[in-house]
Amino acid sequence: MSGCYIHIPFCAQKCSYCDFHFSTNHAYQDEMVDALCAELAIRSTTWTNENFQTIYFGGGTPSILTSVQLQKLIDCVKSNYQVSDSVEITLECNPDDCSPAHLIAWKELGVNRLSIGIQSFHDHQLEWMNRSHKAADGLNAVLHAKEVGFDELSLDIMYGLPGMTLEEWKEQLFGIIALAPEHISAYCLTVEQKTALSKWVKEGKLTVSSNEQQSEQFEALVTTLKSAGYEQYEISNFAREGKYSRHNTSYWKGAKYLGIGPSAHGFDQTKRYWNQANNKVYLNEIKQGRLPETVEILSPFDRFNEAIMIGLRTKWGVSTTQLFKLVSPDPEWFQIVKDYEDKHLLIQTEENIVLTEAGRLLADAIASDLFILEN
Ligand code: SF4
Repeated sequence: MSGCYIHIPFCAQKCSYCDFHFSTNHAYQDEMVDALCAELAIRSTTWTNENFQTIYFGGGTPSILTSVQLQKLIDCVKSNYQVSDSVEITLECNPDDCSPAHLIAWKELGVNRLSIGIQSFHDHQLEWMNRSHKAADGLNAVLHAKEVGFDELSLDIMYGLPGMTLEEWKEQLFGIIALAPEHISAYCLTVEQKTALSKWVKEGKLTVSSNEQQSEQFEALVTTLKSAGYEQYEISNFAREGKYSRHNTSYWKGAKYLGIGPSAHGFDQTKRYWNQANNKVYLNEIKQGRLPETVEILSPFDRFNEAIMIGLRTKWGVSTTQLFKLVSPDPEWFQIVKDYEDKHLLIQTEENIVLTEAGRLLADAIASDLFILEN
């Protein structure tokens, strides 16, 4: 099982909290699509025997591409690699790009899953975020997508926003539940360095939520979505009736994935690579037939720690059978596991280690306690 991630490094405007890689200069979109196709062709010489189960357009804002550009990219994947007949093709999109005409075109291209960046149903929040859409666009995007026949919708929403009360957050949750998406991703606002948000926070112009407020909102998220029939299958991801993101699930389970585009990461179980997060450098290198990548060979310890870090965030936990093939922990490690088990923060079976609901609140701290450092 493997997947293909394609990073589209363009956005309509810069959201105030975002540190992802993108440009607001769209003059060279065609050139970028050609370069992405060229990278797909270059990597196909070493990524042989793939049978992609998933293709994921992330960004940036993939919905900014024209249908012709998206078609070209899908064709390039299919002409260079084997692609499963039942491939999941996800397109991340901004609500203001989701016109009925665009939605129909995406469906015709074979896109069968949309991840819509709603973020908030309140215009006052969307304004300071500098999102390119209004609250009404979010609602219309979902309604139009359903009318066009998309039956795999994932909605992104954020909590921990400045001034957000628990009541406001619950209202947001009820609003999203009323739209009945198959999947919801909910992220806590983080203040990233070198963003407008970080400047405003330093200058005292905006105050972000306290840790207590964030925890309270996270707990409301879990309990509200659970009672509405959503399963929390990863700390930030919720699905109805097993409608998990196949792409992200295979990533969390440690499957291979090809990463294409500026700033994209790829992983083939023994090594990881990441492309330069610079559009100009990326274009120039690809034109010369070179991959603008940094490669890291992963030691068994790296792979052990990574499996713990990612696996503990999911309902499947981490497979101890797989872990112990990489590194044999000492008795002290088993004692740490037992201590957490005694505190009802994790459950250990013969096959795996899974966090309890209470443990998920402390997932990062528990994972780092279970890391094993190479001597
Ligand atoms: S649309 Fe997404 S990637 Fe683009 S600036 Fe906003 S948050 Fe960042």
